[in-house]
Amino acid sequence: MNKLENFINKLNFKKFLRLYLFFSILLLTLCLFAIVYVSKDKIYMAIDYERVSDTFEKEGINDKLKLQLTELASDSKDIKNIIILDKNNNIVFRVNNNLVGNKTKLQFTPYEFNRKYLQDNINRDVLYKVVKKEDIILNKDYIKNSRKIELDIYEEFSFERDLAAKEIYLLNYIVDKDTANKLFIIRTVNPIPYGERLLEITGIIIGLIIIIYWLGLALWVYKDASKKLNNPSLWGLIVLLTNLLGLIIYTMFKQNNKICYKCGFMQSKENIYCTKCGTRISRTCNNCGNIIQKYDKYCSKCGNKLL
Ligand SMILES: [Zn+2]
Ligand SMILES: [Zn+2]
Repeated sequence: MNKLENFINKLNFKKFLRLYLFFSILLLTLCLFAIVYVSKDKIYMAIDYERVSDTFEKEGINDKLKLQLTELASDSKDIKNIIILDKNNNIVFRVNNNLVGNKTKLQFTPYEFNRKYLQDNINRDVLYKVVKKEDIILNKDYIKNSRKIELDIYEEFSFERDLAAKEIYLLNYIVDKDTANKLFIIRTVNPIPYGERLLEITGIIIGLIIIIYWLGLALWVYKDASKKLNNPSLWGLIVLLTNLLGLIIYTMFKQNNKICYKCGFMQSKENIYCTKCGTRISRTCNNCGNIIQKYDKYCSKCGNKLL
């Protein structure tokens, strides 16, 4: 116990706090940069998608939209094809010939064994999972490895005899309310490289930052209390168990009490003399006898100028 006390009393908390803040901010910033860096393709895809859906909804099918769609498809490894259908399901625009070849009509129907999926009239071995717009930005598969994604699909299609014969894609679509034109974005999910590992590392770093803060606060209160109050171990323990709540109680307690510098007995802030040894422990105003604080220039009760 004495060794621990020595150690705590030698700790330079100001220096520790500076190092702690420096390294916490540095490590978290590095993690954030790394995450943004490896996800940059998905972020670009999300921004492009936003732009494309805006043009489609406000301006309809024009050259600008076609150019944007071509760019979106070529920038993202995930996108297999982008197709626009009119209200009669005629293909009005396609980015490439993937999945549809040179067919002029594309009709989707629900897949009989799993209604979450669609099938088209061109190739019955292709299944499309309809996903929401948010899925472009936040897809839980982005941080999985491809083996896990495969296992998930197998689970969803446990009834399927020959899943290997099926191709599965994600389908985002936007429907123009006025013209009933439909914009289909067909894509695979390529996980973000190192995405899973990076999130794990970030989680560990955040955990360590919290643990060090938690222990550091308890140690600081212990050190502070051993200078000013009795029972530093108790205060250290309270803060170790309750953290900020303990710190608030400790601060309030400290404000209302002080220790007699001669005998070490705990005294209320209002006491002028120590109740145990009779030592004078407070300065008072020589005009009215009110207790005055160390840096007061005038008495708070009678306004007497203090020397
Ligand atoms: Zn005393
Ligand atoms: Zn006074």
